Amino acid sequence: MLKVELRSLEYEDLVLEEKGWAKALGIDLEPQLCSDPLEIHCELSKEDDLISAKGWVKGKMLLACDRCLKEFENPYKSFFEVRYRSSGADEDPDGVEVFPEGEFEIVYFEGELLDVGEQIRQTILLSVPMRFLCREDCRGLCGGCGVDLNFGTCVCSEPPPDSRWEALKNIKL
Ligand SMILES: [Zn+2]
Ligand SMILES: [Zn+2]
Repeated sequence: MLKVELRSLEYEDLVLEEKGWAKALGIDLEPQLCSDPLEIHCELSKEDDLISAKGWVKGKMLLACDRCLKEFENPYKSFFEVRYRSSGADEDPDGVEVFPEGEFEIVYFEGELLDVGEQIRQTILLSVPMRFLCREDCRGLCGGCGVDLNFGTCVCSEPPPDSRWEALKNIKL
């Protein structure tokens, strides 16, 4: 599971290693974003009231190419690093959050169980590419005949001749 008891981090660091279908791991995502079982690696350590979690998630997503519309597999291995803080922990006296290294998001949680599942879910959502391309140089579909230009040749009729050249031909020398 992706939950850790706070007590178990008191004296030693922990490594979570999980492999399984997102649903079985308690991660709620659209099935095409995790079309293969996920592999998760997460290192946890506690210092004072901050728990650091860093690691990666590996999986595959099924996307439809923006150009040729074919479905393709997009494997990913995405890294994350986050700090957790129990919301029961004492607030800073002046109410200002002091970030130990200034660059990590701090996620508050309640209770004695820390669940890194939401962090994994966010990491996968951030791995969705901006453009869906089955390959960088996908040639897409012809806008005329609809043929997949990666595999076939366009069967549209010849484009109309350029009228500027036609005009030249008619010039009598
Ligand atoms: Zn494509
Ligand atoms: Zn065509």
